[in-house]
Parts: sequence; C-alpha cells; structure tokens
Amino acid sequence: MSTCTLCEKREAVFMRPYSGERLCRRCFCESIENKVRATISRYEMFQPDDNIMVGVSGGKDSVTLLHILTKIEKKFPDATLYAVTVDEGIKGYRDEALKFAVENCRKLGVKHVVTSFKQMYGYGLDELVNMIEEKELTPCSYCGVLRRRALNTAAREAGVEKLATAHNLDDETQTMILNILHGDVLRLTRVKPVLTVVHPKLVPRVKPFCEVPEREVALYAYLKKIEFQSVPCPYAGTALRNDVRAILNRLEGKHAGTKFTVFRSMERIRPALEAMAEEVKLRECNKCGEPTGSELCKPCQMLEKLSIA
Ligand code: SF4
Ligand code: ZN
Ligand code: ZN
Repeated sequence: MSTCTLCEKREAVFMRPYSGERLCRRCFCESIENKVRATISRYEMFQPDDNIMVGVSGGKDSVTLLHILTKIEKKFPDATLYAVTVDEGIKGYRDEALKFAVENCRKLGVKHVVTSFKQMYGYGLDELVNMIEEKELTPCSYCGVLRRRALNTAAREAGVEKLATAHNLDDETQTMILNILHGDVLRLTRVKPVLTVVHPKLVPRVKPFCEVPEREVALYAYLKKIEFQSVPCPYAGTALRNDVRAILNRLEGKHAGTKFTVFRSMERIRPALEAMAEEVKLRECNKCGEPTGSELCKPCQMLEKLSIA
C-alpha cells in the first residue's frame, strides 16, 4: 500500500472505503479512539465524574471497548471504570470467554464483577434451553432479556452512573433493519446511542462504539494485539439476522457508507417515531419489583412460562 494520507510519513495498512483515507497503523488506531471520543461527546454519554460499568463478554468488541475506555478515562481521575461479565451458562463458550474477560481486566487494572444466570435466576442458559417448548422464542430471546436485566442489576449494585455496551455500527444497523422486517417499527425508538428510560432502578445505557464499523473494531484489536475469544456462541444468531448482516455487508461493499446512511437516517426519523409512540409509564413488577411497563416484567414472564418462577 502507499503512504498514510494523514501523517504522510508511514506506510498505510488500511484503506477506509467510505472516506478514501489510507491510514498507517498509528493513525488508524488514533482515528478509532478519536471517533469514540467524538461519539461520547456528540451524544453526551458521560459526565466527567461518571462512574462507568462496561459489559464485557470476553469477545472482540467488548474487550476492545474496555481498552479504549480505559485509555480515555485516564484523563478523568474522578471517574472509576468497572467491568461486568454475565456468565449465561453456555458450556464450552462463556466459560472460555470469561477467562479472556478476567485476563484483560487484570492487565488493565479494571475492577471486574462477574454475575451469572444461575446465581440470578437459578438456571443457566443451557438448562433453560432444554425447557423451552415454545419454538417461536429462540435461546437468544431468553438470553438477551435475562442478560439485560443482569447487567442493569450489576450496574445498579455497583452504584455506577452509566452502563456501556459494545454494540457497533453493524449491530445497530442490523437491529434497525430487523425491527422493520419484524414489523416492530415503534421498537426502533429503543435502538439508539443513549438509552435513558427514567426510573431510579434503571441505569442509563450508552453505546460508544455505535459509529464504528465492526471490521474497524476487529482491525484495531488485531493491531493492538488485544486477546479475546473468537469462537462463536453455539446458539449464535437467528437466520434472519444473518441474512440482514450479509445483505448490509454486500451493500456496503458495493456502496461504501451504506451502514452510516442507515444509521443517520434512523437518527432523523427517530424523533417522529418517538412522538408517535405512547410514553410507557414504568411501574414495579408485581413479582420481583424491577421496573416494567406491565404487571409482570419480561424476565418474570419468561421464567413463568417455563414454570420455574
Ligand atoms: Fe446469548 Fe444468543 Fe448471544 Fe449466544 S448468540 S450469547 S445465546 S444472545
Ligand atoms: Zn499515519
Ligand atoms: Zn419481575
């Protein structure tokens, strides 16, 4: 490749198709860190003294986010960074990933909290999957709902102001398209960089990677020699999400910048959708006392269906 278009000194290792930049290793890594800083400030994700908990599964995106936030937060000595790993109980997968999460937290000197489905709900995902009869709900539907609850509980118990997750541009645009394909248009109001549903028991969630394409997260991790788990989850992805991923990647390959366009379009449409959506009044679940829009929260409904709550 040729010379880096930013420093005009070092050899370029990456060509960014949607901007035309050719970047050397150092300028590329700095560009990702700057992008994350810009996203944080554009969406006002953090206050200088916010304590932050990062959801770290042990996979590429979350471990890389932890590295970058550790670097950024060094400039804010009043804030403490924590990591949390939820062990869903997926044999041969999460137990492996947990080792990477532990090791990265140790190297970075980040306080690490580990929680599990077993501890919170009495059963791990593998056990729950064996009980699922209703086929329209996939292991991922249970996993997603139960993990969100586990993350919120861990963040609340740690007393942090923000919970950061590593959803990248690809995750976000896939979810946007999936909501449309499912006919769940108003759900689009919940796919956004900062989620602040106001309730004292809910910790606001932020996504500092939402404007970074997945392949750039992967390249950053590779160039920085970050170690993470790369084996996919045995229950990974529904067929539809895989199709949407493939279509978006094909479009991006032919028309660079497509994913950003989808993301920005959503940013513009969202206020109108929010105005259409009825404001959900949050109350406390009759069973567990966690915030919910109905009498029983989603995790309690799911566990009740399996007749174990
Ligand atoms: Fe959970 Fe599905 Fe992700 Fe596996 S792929 S960790 S089951 S959400
Ligand atoms: Zn350079
Ligand atoms: Zn409940």
